[in-house]
Amino acid sequence: MWSSLGLNLEAHEGLLNFLGGAYKDIYLSQKNRPKGMEYFDFVISEVHGLRIKELMDAKEEGRKIIGTFCVYVPEELILAVNGISVGLCAGAEVGTQEAEKYLPRNTCALIKGFVGFKLASLCPYVEATDLIVGETTCDGKKKAYEIFDEITGGKLYVMEIPNRKGDEGRKLWRSEIERFKEKLEEFTGIKITEENLSKSVKIVNEKRKALQRLATLRATKPTPISGLDALLINQISFYDDPVRFTDMLNKLCDELDERVKNGNGVFSKDTPRILVSGSPMAIPNWKLPFIIETSGAVIVGEEACVGERNFRNLTEENMGVKETLDNIASRYMGIDCACFTPNDERMTNISDMVDKYKADGVIHYSLQFCTPFTVESYKVKKTMDKKEVPFMALETDYSMEDFGQFKTRVEAFVEMIK
Ligand code: SF4
Ligand code: SF4
Repeated sequence: MWSSLGLNLEAHEGLLNFLGGAYKDIYLSQKNRPKGMEYFDFVISEVHGLRIKELMDAKEEGRKIIGTFCVYVPEELILAVNGISVGLCAGAEVGTQEAEKYLPRNTCALIKGFVGFKLASLCPYVEATDLIVGETTCDGKKKAYEIFDEITGGKLYVMEIPNRKGDEGRKLWRSEIERFKEKLEEFTGIKITEENLSKSVKIVNEKRKALQRLATLRATKPTPISGLDALLINQISFYDDPVRFTDMLNKLCDELDERVKNGNGVFSKDTPRILVSGSPMAIPNWKLPFIIETSGAVIVGEEACVGERNFRNLTEENMGVKETLDNIASRYMGIDCACFTPNDERMTNISDMVDKYKADGVIHYSLQFCTPFTVESYKVKKTMDKKEVPFMALETDYSMEDFGQFKTRVEAFVEMIK
């Protein structure tokens, strides 16, 4: 299967060995994990195995695999045309040297990551996709997509995301939803109807409700699940089968309900609680959460796209096609990405999250050279200062070079909160 996908078999084997080792050290070494995490461990162990086989089988049956990079791409529409939506991971430093032949050095690690994975022929998901949907969120991505289109043999379709959320921006976004619908219909030969759209809205809503349920459980003291495990679940939500994922997550939440009832936490009740806010953390970018949770603190929420920004809002159900498309447009327009200006709703959301999850401090995380989030950290700091919530901003990439320095800074921050 791997050679038919055109992967570099030797390098792929090396990547899997590295991932397996990192997973053992970071995840399996955690104490008192809920039993329900076994499913998610299994999914990770099969991330370059059974899941790819499932995708290839689905392709045989005529279903289209559609890759995405951003929570702005409506999964509801992809499911309505019987497509499979997969988030394309880019959370590791792979093929950077190659990527830098195409991109300037001062490009964020996420962009270098997805270009690098492709150039190194290491990502079976990219190879399995029939279509890749990009978006014009930040300049780095939108220019990189031109190159990505070239190196993937013309797989890219790009949605235009407005920069502002006024009437004009909303109109543009609504028309982009229409254009995407037409593209999907033409690409798959399946018409979007009230029936298939209602069904897919429900599937995605159920998934988001399960993720909301998990988030709410973390608000209890002591929190019944580690931030590392919760992040993993959020990462998996981007590529697992949505119905199966929802079912397994609800089962895990049933177990967490019991833990909450019995006061059984993964960390003690007085462990400092951290809210992480900022750029998304794609698999296997676990560096910062690992540092935080081995420095005497627990992460109780992620104000990020791999986190709350992905599941905060639902889409209204049981409407006609036009109304549902209107609702989808509004639902996605509610996402508070730093690519928008102004973006004050993000400040309100972070502030609410601090209260809801009883966070003792906020760590703002941005990838180096990510202008939108790095610049916006100024406003987040101001908001937290006003609230008198301890705040720290960190800027990093996917390398391990700053591991020691970060650990020292995080430990000092946790000590200060205590
Ligand atoms: S941070 Fe912005 S660009 Fe990145 S995935 Fe989220 S919404 Fe998309
Ligand atoms: S992390 Fe920042 S610079 Fe990188 S793709 Fe996302 S928004 Fe763009």
